[in-house]
This record gives sequence, C-alpha cells and structure tokens, in this order.
Amino acid sequence: MAISTYNEPISMHPLSMEQLRLLILLGILSITTFVYFDLQLITESLSAGYLVSRFVFQLPAAMIVVGMTYVPHFKKRMQTAIMLSLIVITYSNYAFIIYAWKLESIVFPYEGTFLYSYFALFVLRLGFKRALLYCFVVLIGFIALIAHYPIYGSSSPINGSFVAITLIVGLFATYHLDSTQTKLTTLNQQLSLLSTQDPLTQLLNRRSYLQRFEQLLSYCQRTGTSVSVFMVDIDNFKHYNDHFGHLAGDDAIVKQAKILTRTFQRDTDILCRYGGEEFVVVVLDCTPQDCERMASSILQHWKMERLPHAPELDSAFLSCSIGVYSETPNSDSTPESILKQADDALYLAKDQGKARYVRLETCATVS
Ligand code: GH3
Ligand code: MG
Ligand code: MG
Repeated sequence: MAISTYNEPISMHPLSMEQLRLLILLGILSITTFVYFDLQLITESLSAGYLVSRFVFQLPAAMIVVGMTYVPHFKKRMQTAIMLSLIVITYSNYAFIIYAWKLESIVFPYEGTFLYSYFALFVLRLGFKRALLYCFVVLIGFIALIAHYPIYGSSSPINGSFVAITLIVGLFATYHLDSTQTKLTTLNQQLSLLSTQDPLTQLLNRRSYLQRFEQLLSYCQRTGTSVSVFMVDIDNFKHYNDHFGHLAGDDAIVKQAKILTRTFQRDTDILCRYGGEEFVVVVLDCTPQDCERMASSILQHWKMERLPHAPELDSAFLSCSIGVYSETPNSDSTPESILKQADDALYLAKDQGKARYVRLETCATVS
C-alpha cells in the first residue's frame, strides 16, 4: 500500500509500562507501611497469620505484575493481570478478617476493600469491563463474608451497603472516564487525519507531504538512492468545471487520486494532492523505464475512463499531463529544487500538447 495517510496509532491505556510499574511499587510501599502500623494494633497471636496474608499473598501478587511488565507483549494481558492481582489482594484481606475473628474474635477493618478497589480503578486505570468483573467478585466475597460470620454484628447490612455503593460509584466513574477517553481518542485520530490528509481524496495534504519528502530526501542523500517526482495536472480542468459544474469537477479530482493510488503501491511512495487538480507523487529507486511505465499507466487509465470533456475542446475525453523528474540527490538538493524540475517537465508536457508525460533527468524528453 502506498502512503496516502499519516495516522499515528493512539494507545487507549493512559499509563505507560514505566508509570504502571512505578504506581504498583507505590502500592507495595503503602501495604508495607500498613504492616508497620497494623502490627502495633493486632495481638501477637495474629501476627503470623497477618504476615502470611501480607507477605505470602498480597506483596507477591503485586510483585508478579511488576515482573510481568518486563515480559514482551504484556500490554495485551495487563488489564487482566491487574484485575487478578487486586482480587488476590482483596480476598487475602477477607481471609485475614475471618482468621482474626475466628482466632481472637477481633474485628479487623474491611475498609481496605475501598482502598484496593479505588487503587485498581483510578490509579491503575482498570478498563470498565475488567472493573465490572473485579467489583462483582469483590462484592460477592464481602457479602459472603458478612453473611457467614457475624464479625460486624448489627452494622453488617450498613457495612455491606457501604462496600456496594462505593464499588458502584467507582464503576460509574470508570465508565465515564472510559467513554471520555474513547471520545478523546477518536477525536484525536480525526484531528490527526485532518491535519495530514486532504479531505476530498484522502491523499496526503501539502504540509505532511513536505514533511515526508524531507525525511525521504535525507535517506536518499545518506544512501545514494535515486528519487523521482511525478507532477500530475488535469488538462483544461477549468473548462471541465465550467461546463459540468464544480461537483463533477470534484469527482474528476477523486478519480485522478484513485488512478494514482492504483499506480503507486509501494510502502515508501508519497502521494499528495498538491492543490486544486495538481498532484505530486514521490517514489524511490525507480529506473527511467519504471518511471515511463508508471506515467504511461496513468495516461492509459484516463484513456480507459473515456470521461467526456467540455465540448468546445479539441480533446473529447478528460486527460492529464505529467512531469517526471529523477535525480540522485546531493547535499544541495531540496524538496523545492526537485519539485521545480518536475514542474518544468510538466510545463513542457502542457506546452507540447497535453495528455502526455515528459521525463527530465539527463534532459531526455519523451512524449
Ligand atoms: P491546464 O490544462 O493548463 O492545466 O488548464 P487548467 O484549466 O486545468 O488549469 P488551471 O490551473 O487554470 O485551472 C484549474 C482549475 O481547477 C481552476 C479551478 O476552478 C479548479 N479547481 C481548483 N480546485 C478545485 C476543487 O477542489 N474542485 C474543483 N471542482 N475545481 C477546482
Ligand atoms: Mg490543469
Ligand atoms: Mg493546475
């Protein structure tokens, strides 16, 4: 496929791998801080169980995700890994709540559930689908916990409601964040297209053509690769427009773009609507024969179209003229200097009667 659009892919997830790693490490640091304070609060007989919950389940679950961020293509599995690790962390907390209750009848707080879920939803930015699954699993676990064990006594229903409402609020916010981000991403892609693409033909506009030509030119200067520029202009287009109207003129411009897209199909080809009914194509490493074959093919396509031209003209059908210029760029070459030569060649083609190409390189003219 020839390069006719210039569209940078935009990632949906707002965090880079480095940021994700850093945030999980921050989470690990917070859990370690809890350990210090919790150990002052709980009885000594609970310490072993507490340390198992924190150091055998919670910290390893988080560390495994950090380790996985170094695995290639982890991004695809990132959301699932974050969700599973947060479920392990929350459930190991539930397990310790039950353990503390059974062993010492101590009411260990459940508020960590809020903290873990908000960390998952808003810091690690779980997407809505995973967030929904995560909140469902966490809520079912908490309801089962308060239904089976009278740990929180008569305040169990209110505690259950707190957990449910907190998770639902978090889910709503996640949904809005996700949809806003999707809208922004789409808008960004549209803006990026608008700034690089010609809306009528979907070829590159002049600005992004120049950007790509400059990149290509420095590659050619470095490697000694030849570059060929085709300047294509529809013949007597003003008459066509005047006779058939502007909309028919637009259709002809689109047709010209399609002919070019069919003719130039290399990845490195740059296709641009330069302005009005003028197009510029930049190709690499083409022999004179290649250039002539491609220019002939464009003229042939128009012949086959047999699109009637304005009646007052000599030519019965719409056609175009092409100026082709090839060189192996040196350090003085610029996009402008190369295009100027292609423009001169186009001028010659017009001058010699239109509906033809002129190729300039060693001043050889082919009609
Ligand atoms: P030549 O064979 O020498 O190229 O003659 P021409 O009539 O094609 O040349 P000229 O550059 O004078 O005319 C170009 C016309 O293209 C003038 C303008 O009305 C028309 N044009 C420019 N942009 C557009 C466009 O976006 N749509 C349409 N329909 N016409 C356009
Ligand atoms: Mg013209
Ligand atoms: Mg013109």
